[in-house]
Amino acid sequence: MKKGSGLKLPADTAPFFRDKALAGRMVAAIAEKAASLAAAGRRANFMEVCGTHTMSIAAAGLRRLLPPPVKMLSGPGCPVCVTSQGDIDRLIELALIGGVTVATFGDMLKVKGSKGLDLQAAREKGADVRVVYSPLDSLEIARTEPSRKVVFIGVGFETTAPVIGGVLVRARAAGLKNFFVAPLFKLVPPALEALLSAGNTEVDGFIMPGHVSAIIGPEPYRFVAEKYKVPCVIAGFEPLDILRGVDALLGQMLSGRPEVDTEYSRVVKAGGNPAALKLMSEVFAPAGASWRAIGKIPGSGLALSRAYSAYDAFAEFGVKEREAPEPKGCICGLVLTGKASPPDCRLFGKACTPSSAVGPCMVSSEGACAAWFKYGG
Ligand code: SF4
Repeated sequence: MKKGSGLKLPADTAPFFRDKALAGRMVAAIAEKAASLAAAGRRANFMEVCGTHTMSIAAAGLRRLLPPPVKMLSGPGCPVCVTSQGDIDRLIELALIGGVTVATFGDMLKVKGSKGLDLQAAREKGADVRVVYSPLDSLEIARTEPSRKVVFIGVGFETTAPVIGGVLVRARAAGLKNFFVAPLFKLVPPALEALLSAGNTEVDGFIMPGHVSAIIGPEPYRFVAEKYKVPCVIAGFEPLDILRGVDALLGQMLSGRPEVDTEYSRVVKAGGNPAALKLMSEVFAPAGASWRAIGKIPGSGLALSRAYSAYDAFAEFGVKEREAPEPKGCICGLVLTGKASPPDCRLFGKACTPSSAVGPCMVSSEGACAAWFKYGG
């Protein structure tokens, strides 16, 4: 990238960049590459897999900096959003069991189950549902209130699982018998494989989640570039990181050489985080998982390993897996697979707003619908 060849950033976008001159040059480089693709009649639909990227793109107004044919699509990387309707129902059932305390991050409180009830409404019906800021807080509840059976809702990806795994190791070391986890973890690579193998995706490149990649490293994405010939880049979460990622994807498209490029090497290392991976392999075992509106994907989740199976809340309380219909009119499933954008939903901004959300993509602080509602397209 030549020095001094940058574009001036719009006044409302510029404050989001620590190095405005570099951002301007990056936008100019993107424009040049996008023009070459457009001249060849090619599109560039890029999926940001992670909900944190979705929020960063929307907050900084990056879509307005990207020239046609570059289009950003949201992906299945918001943990609250991808939790299936059937699993939300199971969590509400757990919360309503006498003597059970459900501890959760706040985002899960307002996701409605198939009967219109959410955890907040369950609380109003007498359920003991508590918002915690760390899974360690739920362990503390179990330790200080031995008469309660405390269930922590284990929703999240490869980033969250080691943290909760660490809490389970502590629970076992402390001999706690009243602490459980509802294991609803999801794994990113199998979800991408499911998306690509379905053959109906229009994704030309993936911006992979930086923090998941810090745990698993770049290698698990290799199949995306090699088997499906789709460019990949691992990017950080600052707007400049994301522009760098878009530029790298365009470069791969133009060169015709898809690969897994790491533009976040200050955090993501080859091999990921060995200590976290070891902990995960001790506490968890791969399992099928149900994804909202996508269905069950083999090997895309984590169950508790045999050594930790006594901490499985669903097994402890006999709460079975189930399917449940999506909220009427909600197209979260299409949004999560990059087949629609939030404004394509006829409920967006009308019947569905953050204060009266119909689906989880509007509830979650990382949801695509919430991002579009708050910051615009
Ligand atoms: S706007 Fe609401 S109803 Fe529509 S897809 Fe988003 S969350 Fe679902």
